[in-house]
Amino acid sequence: MEITRDTVAVITGGASGMGRSTALALARSGASVAIADLNEARIAETVAELEALGVGALGVRCDVSRPEDIANLRDRTVERFGRVDILMNNAGILPLGSISAMPLAEFERAMRVNFLAVVCGVQTFLPDLAARGQAHIVNTASMAGTFAYEPDSVAYNASKAAVISLTENLALGLAPQGIGVTCLVPGGVATNIMEQVKVSGEIGDLASYVGAHFVMRTADEVGEMVVAAIRDNTFFLPTNPELVALLARRAADPDGFVHEMQDWFAAHQPA
Ligand code: NAD
Repeated sequence: MEITRDTVAVITGGASGMGRSTALALARSGASVAIADLNEARIAETVAELEALGVGALGVRCDVSRPEDIANLRDRTVERFGRVDILMNNAGILPLGSISAMPLAEFERAMRVNFLAVVCGVQTFLPDLAARGQAHIVNTASMAGTFAYEPDSVAYNASKAAVISLTENLALGLAPQGIGVTCLVPGGVATNIMEQVKVSGEIGDLASYVGAHFVMRTADEVGEMVVAAIRDNTFFLPTNPELVALLARRAADPDGFVHEMQDWFAAHQPA
């Protein structure tokens, strides 16, 4: 879809990392942006950065795990801008711990923030997006949802796999309403995500497979990629395009691939 000075975007987790960078990239294209986040200091900083670019900016304190907060975000955005064209469900947390160490409550938290909040975001904003005739949804998943390489973040990985399935289904289901859908699939990206990590039990050397095989991206690079994907209606948006070849290899031999990953993981455990 075209991004113009009339375009209005809403981004959860918009005060930091990839959400903030996407907000700024959209603003450079002329869009007004509402950012939702828990971090009020960073909301204020990002709103000031957006305003400095000469666009409309709104910051809303919002816990995406609370449906009433998402409803408030929708109401505040429509009250201020009158419409919503782009929704980016991006807020996320990284609970760490193995299957034996992580309490069920941590799995529930991961699913509530990383997955159910995406469902709630889509359900809440769908009438506004559908009313535009042309709109776009971006859901932030993770490379960790596409194949298993880090069993010490099993709850996170499963929550992101759920986001990928949901998002692919939305791409089919919402196209008739003129709503394009992008699944952002970051590998390693330099952001503030490690600030709010909660660890259950002992964990090994985190995500070393991704670090060893994929280039680390900056959040600003990702922000530009997201804006291009919205313009071009790209569905699958890995921040490391080589991921596609790896997934093709996995699809060709799923059994052999898992054995290969088991061997790699065993060889890279701390002594
Ligand atoms: P970040 O921590 O810099 O930004 C995430 C923002 O989400 C923060 O500002 C945080 O306050 C906010 N947030 C967290 N919980 C929230 C809640 N309940 N309600 C509202 N806001 C909340 O991290 P980031 O890396 O930019 O993360 C963005 C997304 O990218 C996340 O979904 C994350 O899982 C995903 N991701 C990140 C990486 C990476 O390497 N950084 C890799 C794959 C996927």
